[in-house]
Amino acid sequence: MNPIYQNLKTYFGYDSFRPGQEKIITAILSGRDALGIMPTGAGKSLCYQIPALTFPGLTVVISPLISLMEDQVAALKRRGIGAELINSAVNYNRRKSILTKISTEYGRDSLSYSHHTSSSSSSAFHQCSDSSIFPESLPSARSESSPIKLLYVSPERLSAPEFRAFAQKIRISFLCVDEAHCISLWGRQFRPEYMKIAEFIEALPTRPVVAAFTATANAEVRSDIIDNLKLREPYVLTTGFDRPNLYFEVQKDKDKWLALSSLLTRHRGECGIIYCLTRRTVESLSRKLEVNGFTVAHYHGGMPLEEREKAQRDWLDGKRNVIVATNAFGMGIDKPDVRFVIHYNMPGSMENYYQEAGRAGRDGLPSDCFILYNYRDVVINRFFISYAGIMPGDMVKGGEHRSVSIIEGVYVAIDNDIDLDELRAHERRKLAAMQRFVAGDVCLRQFMLGYFGEHAPSYCGKCSRCLSLVPFGQHQTSLIPDVESPDLYSELRSLRLRLSRKYGILPHKIFPDKILHVFARARPRSVPAMLLIEGINFVSVFRYGREFVEEIRLFVETN
Ligand code: ADP
Ligand code: MG
Repeated sequence: MNPIYQNLKTYFGYDSFRPGQEKIITAILSGRDALGIMPTGAGKSLCYQIPALTFPGLTVVISPLISLMEDQVAALKRRGIGAELINSAVNYNRRKSILTKISTEYGRDSLSYSHHTSSSSSSAFHQCSDSSIFPESLPSARSESSPIKLLYVSPERLSAPEFRAFAQKIRISFLCVDEAHCISLWGRQFRPEYMKIAEFIEALPTRPVVAAFTATANAEVRSDIIDNLKLREPYVLTTGFDRPNLYFEVQKDKDKWLALSSLLTRHRGECGIIYCLTRRTVESLSRKLEVNGFTVAHYHGGMPLEEREKAQRDWLDGKRNVIVATNAFGMGIDKPDVRFVIHYNMPGSMENYYQEAGRAGRDGLPSDCFILYNYRDVVINRFFISYAGIMPGDMVKGGEHRSVSIIEGVYVAIDNDIDLDELRAHERRKLAAMQRFVAGDVCLRQFMLGYFGEHAPSYCGKCSRCLSLVPFGQHQTSLIPDVESPDLYSELRSLRLRLSRKYGILPHKIFPDKILHVFARARPRSVPAMLLIEGINFVSVFRYGREFVEEIRLFVETN
């Protein structure tokens, strides 16, 4: 078996790679530099952790955020993989003991060096770590004694004389830069220390394979990373940011409570998240939902730890399908079957929105993302931006990286010497973009992808703008398969909702949206005509077809 599959299964418990992972891992293991541009949650860590298991020498991972390093190292140790971290928070004695341990394992003149490389020669696939040969010997107890395969360091470390001297003495096979947009002035979170990485690499006795990862897709950032890190003919992987299984909808200036209860009714029995901007809204909304017969969990940073953990567990275990939460919820959460994410308030940035809405449909099945927006949301966000205090990112625990963002109205910053005025100006620009997203009239998907630097057509067919709000002839009709009546479509949708309530069956089980679109376009006038539609469910046609035929007739006659 290809060792990368074996490691994927043994250490991470996964059966298959996500898009792009295998290609970039194979490129890295063949000795080629690489640049991976993949959206948040796509699985970038695995792309360097798996090669790290296979390379004979040490892998150094440069990462900007202490909490992120801690989480990754803890997770690796739990999996029985030797990993350590060194940053400003690690004291001298601990640093010394880690560096000494590594030096004995990978030291250029130590005995174990020859052990690790004796049979190696050219093949990077050579299994050097005994823990990867004996997968059954597992977790924490072992991890202290298993060889350190990965060392996480902050970029500041690279200039410390102590670390430089250490790097001269050991064998570094692979150097990986996570959150590599920090290397670019265009990257919005520019970190000057990132500029010194290339110099550090050049000073090494042997040049390691170098790879960089980021979620920022913009072209300037990409070329800055390649130039500033001096990557050599890197293998560049870009996985698209689009999530084709997600439907996006914005509801403007509606009665939020009515809109929410109707959405929840439509999604009854399904797993979902409702995001609110403030702790207070989380409290009041979840109470109101309970009073109205919806069972929900709730979560925010002000709750005692045990309550928070219980809420999260109840939701993860499916005891409660829906959780009402602030954006403090969700970091590191990887629940595959979240069928909807409702933003009861507009979030403060597209970055936050994409990350939060992106928690829907990780299993690839159709899922819905809604924003309920009114102007008050802008006021709250503006208040946050102007009055939020700073909490250093180091103090925030969570598996998911957010460089600088506002969580529950508090800035969480990557480092302590951040310029607050600049940060505020930057956050205001992000909020303005978010407002354009909710208040505009272009395709939601196109706007979102465009914001993240990707080109997309002006019609996606899977957002509220493209579907129900298309005024006749205003969009490029060439992209719309056929002329479709948006009014008929919404009539059919409300019929479906009525039937769904009457028979207690989920709307898409009656007819999926795709079929309603065909109805709206082709306007079948009889049940047999419906049977001719490709992919239609016959049982549904026999059960509900008649009512849809009636609705279509009525529409045609009255228009
Ligand atoms: P990124 O750094 O790209 O934002 P992470 O590396 O933190 O993403 O991974 C996000 C989540 O995806 C993690 O929970 C990780 O365990 C999971 N994941 C990564 N690769 C796979 C895979 N091949 N199969 C299933 N889950 C995966
Ligand atoms: Mg990451």
